[in-house]
This record gives sequence, C-alpha cells and structure tokens, in this order.
Amino acid sequence: MNPTIGVLALQGDFAAHVAALGDAGARAVECRTVAQVNAVNGLVIPGGESTTLLRLLDGTGIEGAVRALVARGGAVFGTCAGAILVARETVRPAQAAWGLLDITVERNAYGRQVDSFEGAVPGGPFGAAPLPLIFIRAPRIRRVGPGVETLLALAGEPILVRAGRVLAGTFHPELTGDRRVHRAFVELCVARGAEVAGR
Ligand code: GLN
Repeated sequence: MNPTIGVLALQGDFAAHVAALGDAGARAVECRTVAQVNAVNGLVIPGGESTTLLRLLDGTGIEGAVRALVARGGAVFGTCAGAILVARETVRPAQAAWGLLDITVERNAYGRQVDSFEGAVPGGPFGAAPLPLIFIRAPRIRRVGPGVETLLALAGEPILVRAGRVLAGTFHPELTGDRRVHRAFVELCVARGAEVAGR
C-alpha cells in the first residue's frame, strides 16, 4: 500500500517534504485543517520557526487531530521546529510542547556563529553510506527517555530518535538528495497501516 502522508503546511519548508515524500513512494498532501490531518496515515511537521508554528496552530484543533492520528496507529515525523513541537519538554527558552515523544530539546542550541552547518554521519540503520546532514538554527536533543531509540548521532549526541511511530530529527533530510530517512518514515506509516479516521 502507498500511504497518504500529510505535511503540516502552515509555515516552514513543507514543500521540500512533499517532494521528498513523493520521491520516497508516498502520496504526499499538504495539511492545513483538522479534516486533512484526519485523512492521512502519517504526518510530517516540518522545520520552520516553532514559536510561529505554535501561534498559527492555536485554536485550529490540529494538535488534537495529531494526537488522534497517533492514537489510531498513524506516524508522525517532526524535523527541527517539528521536533521541538513533538518533544515532551522544550528548554532555553521553555515553550509549550505536545509531549508525543519523551525527549527534552534545547532550541537554537548550536550557538549563533555556527547555527547553520552541514555534515555527514555513517547511515547507521539506513545503511553504511554516509548520510548528508543540514542543520539550520537547529535544536539539540538534551535528554532521551528510556523508551526512545537513538537512530543517528552526531559527535555522540542524538540527532534522529524514535519511539513507536513518532520520529524526530534535528536536521533537514528534505534538503539533501538522500531519501533514506523519508523512505524509513514511509515504511513506519505503512507498518500496521493506520486507518483513516472515520472509516
Ligand atoms: N530555530 C527554530 C525554532 O526554534 C527551528 C529551526 C528550524 O526548524 N530549521 O523553532
């Protein structure tokens, strides 16, 4: 089955995720409403600016729809600002977070001079070839809860983590040509295929 995967399209680099998910074999759709979130098997929360995202989401009911998506077996992938949203706790500065994944993130934690940089790590569970990484004013994952698996680390720090069907990364896989992370997310969405709400 080709899953339908939504990309929260209120702010940030959602278009690049739509393209990356398409490359990875999913039907990708932009989501701006509860009804649209209710119709997908998985949802990407893109990078952007988490405070702005939270403000735009306020009162839309989308947070509840994302919780319902997870409850019905759907998958969520938060990248960068999206990782900040799905975390249990956000520090420096503290900010509301949805608590979908038991991690603590610190915003803009690479410091001003080096707040955007590129790198690569061995692909780990995605295969031996180095995985290119782009960080843009990225958060750092400062704490990982006991049930959370670290899939990729940079200099010993987790940069891609997962618990159940919730995945979070501090880098931007959609901005490189390497589709292994998006393919893994598509597989997560297919595994035990989340039912579309109301069917
Ligand atoms: N610095 C942003 C924030 O705190 C995240 C940056 C990004 O998503 N590229 O929300």
